[in-house]
Amino acid sequence: QQRTAENYVNEVYEEIKRRNPYETEFIQAVKEILDSLLPVICKHPKYMEHGILERITEPERLITFRVPWVDDNGKVKVNRGFRVQFNSSIGPYKGGLRFHPTVNASIIKFLGFEQIFKNALTGLPIGGGKGGSDFDPKGKSDGEIMRFCQSFMTELSKYIGPDVDVPAGDIGVGAREIGYLFGQYKRIRGGFQSGVLTGKGLGYGGSMTRTEATGYGTVYFVEEMLKDHHLSFNGSTVVVSGSGNVSIYAMEKAAQLGATVVACSDSDGYIYDPLGINLATVKRLKEVERTRIKEYVNILPHAQYVEGCTNIWSIPCDIALPCATQNEIDENAAKTLIENGVKAIGEGANMPSTLEAIELFLKNDILFGPAKAVNAGGVAVSALEMSQNSMRMSWTFEEVDEKLKGIMKNIYQKSITCAEEYGQSGNLVIGANIAGFITVADAMIAHGV
Ligand code: GLU
Repeated sequence: QQRTAENYVNEVYEEIKRRNPYETEFIQAVKEILDSLLPVICKHPKYMEHGILERITEPERLITFRVPWVDDNGKVKVNRGFRVQFNSSIGPYKGGLRFHPTVNASIIKFLGFEQIFKNALTGLPIGGGKGGSDFDPKGKSDGEIMRFCQSFMTELSKYIGPDVDVPAGDIGVGAREIGYLFGQYKRIRGGFQSGVLTGKGLGYGGSMTRTEATGYGTVYFVEEMLKDHHLSFNGSTVVVSGSGNVSIYAMEKAAQLGATVVACSDSDGYIYDPLGINLATVKRLKEVERTRIKEYVNILPHAQYVEGCTNIWSIPCDIALPCATQNEIDENAAKTLIENGVKAIGEGANMPSTLEAIELFLKNDILFGPAKAVNAGGVAVSALEMSQNSMRMSWTFEEVDEKLKGIMKNIYQKSITCAEEYGQSGNLVIGANIAGFITVADAMIAHGV
């Protein structure tokens, strides 16, 4: 049985590489999943008999489209838009939109693939999807952002809907962009379908706690993991990469739980503040002024700015929360973190650690919370936003925060229990992947080929 399962997993992996030769990020995400599913395929041959692995690794649909827009100088620009509708077995496709110059089919597919398992882990009825564009929002005026969003939605609107596919934000897409996208969808449809997007403003169907959800959820999950090992955020030193939505609210919650957050970053470099990062300053710089993190040291000169964002992992800390982007912790960064005595890693970003880095953390018994489980709080509250939209009512901040806490605890318990059940005690990577997989795979079997 072991051999047949191994052969099956290898065959699927070889086929994925053959079919997507240049999609390195997608291949990386698939490899991590396939490797961790071996014990479940071994134990339940039904997944092989129903061809689940070859089906789950191929998107139901990948949409690519032209996004033409006019810049402030009247010049015509063209970007490429994507939406991957990866898996709809347990609910409408659900996942964010990323606007960043690195966006391509491989990035969107890896994110969409991860989303399938993450969304299933939340226990809420949402399938896996993702989208975005290679549009670079950096340095663009508000008018340019609006025109780009409108053009993007003009095409995307053909493929989405509250029961079909529900996009949200991701890197480069926050409340402002969701507002412009929603306005265009409403114009085109001629009706107010609030459930078509999540991460909306509070005045028009948004949910309390959605802004904070990914960052808070990250810390709630890591706190559970620490508690299991008689550790806590209280009194610990924390490094959080990034300074966007995930990072800011992870820093806020970690500090509320008594940690000192000494560093954060953007794609240019990092700031080190031994007194603890002043969050009001970071929020103003990043959310209001939309400027670079190095400005922090002009306001608080006792802090230090260092060029180059990946160097942030050389700062000694107890807990590291990578909340910036994919593959930001490679083997070397992982080695440095371990040498400097890190006790726990919680992945707030999507796939921030390379496969080699994960292996090192696990081998050295560092507590490791994988992205699919750790950062699921964002999409979980998105699903709660959809529920509130369907009911045409809204819950309070406290109500949503309580639900979020419950969901994160539940994800931790599910992952730990699943790891134990499949003989991989304490390995949350395997536990989370298997728990998410089983939910989706069983629905796929129920629906037939
Ligand atoms: N972009 C977020 C994620 O990676 C949130 C997606 C959503 O809320 O739909 O999970």
